[in-house]
Amino acid sequence: MAVRDGSGKFHIDVIDVGQADSILLEGPDGTTMLVDSGHWHDEGEHVLDHLNESEIDHLDYLVATHDDWDHIGGHADIIDEFGSDGIGTVYSPAKEEEGKRSAAVTQYKTALAENGIKENQLHAESAALDLDGVTIDILNPSEEIDSKARNENSVVMQATYGKQSILLAGDIKGKAETQLVEKHAEQLSDVDVLKTAHHGSKFSTGEALLETCEPETVLYSHAEESKHDHPDTETVTRTTQADNAHSTALHGTTSLTFDGQNEIAVEHTNDTDLHDATDFAALIHYHRDNDVALDEIDSIARSDLLASIPYEIVDNASIIEDSQAVQTLQDENEALQDQLDEATEALDAKDDVIDAKDDVIDAKDNIIDEKDQRIEQLQNRLAALEQATKE
Ligand SMILES: [Zn+2]
Repeated sequence: MAVRDGSGKFHIDVIDVGQADSILLEGPDGTTMLVDSGHWHDEGEHVLDHLNESEIDHLDYLVATHDDWDHIGGHADIIDEFGSDGIGTVYSPAKEEEGKRSAAVTQYKTALAENGIKENQLHAESAALDLDGVTIDILNPSEEIDSKARNENSVVMQATYGKQSILLAGDIKGKAETQLVEKHAEQLSDVDVLKTAHHGSKFSTGEALLETCEPETVLYSHAEESKHDHPDTETVTRTTQADNAHSTALHGTTSLTFDGQNEIAVEHTNDTDLHDATDFAALIHYHRDNDVALDEIDSIARSDLLASIPYEIVDNASIIEDSQAVQTLQDENEALQDQLDEATEALDAKDDVIDAKDDVIDAKDNIIDEKDQRIEQLQNRLAALEQATKE
């Protein structure tokens, strides 16, 4: 029995498991599904701790989106702790990569065998699952994807409760993401919340997926210091088209509650007011450029923040206080005014030269006039003298 049984609402916990994924779904009547189990590195929360704190002693569904250790690393411990009585249906990845099994996969398979638990598979052709009225459609992996890559074959789920919908994109990218958009565009247009694919890596959660889903809220599951620099700065810039962003590294475990109508409530274990998608993007850019901790946002000079974020998102980033933005504009304005003053002075000096030149020309004209007058006078005198001589 879970704490939130019978609330009539659909709950989603994106558990802070560091550089990994683990998402707990609880239907309105308390039916539970755990999608991935993270692992116990990168200072993330151990999934078992979260399940215990949430007083969950039964998982109706345990899903592994794919075989990577940041997604199944906690599976063996959970299976050993809950046992066959505490776990309903187990879904393993539909396609296992050929070659040597990783330690995480071996531990998982051993735990299943020792507890006598059967494996099942989910793929795009599977029937939708039902979680107390929440419909869970499986959109990937598809038989049509000719890829052996584990990430590409991640289980992708869209969970819809009433008017509200969340997409859990696993670690897909490239071909799988392109095909997802091509095949399921209409259904994806219902998405309100998007758990970004592959911890926000550069080549996932592309424009096509974002434009098709138009999510209000994006979720990032990642560690503060991910060795792959997840989420990528280009990806967080792309997702500024959403209103809100929640990150496990910044916000801790993020809990969403769908009422099936219009309201999606969000709670975090870490206390921060920063929820705006553009602000989050600005913060990640600054964090990458300057190696400053994500929770040090309040100590960052706003002018520095302004300087490190891309032009296309700067206008919408509200963490840059207006006064600071105005100050920056005033500084720019003053510099321009100085340039204008200098140019005006130079122009004035040129005018003075022209004036002086005009004076010289005038003086020259006067001399010519005087000369002309003198010549006329002399001619008149000469004419008078000639006349006098004739007489
Ligand atoms: Zn992963």
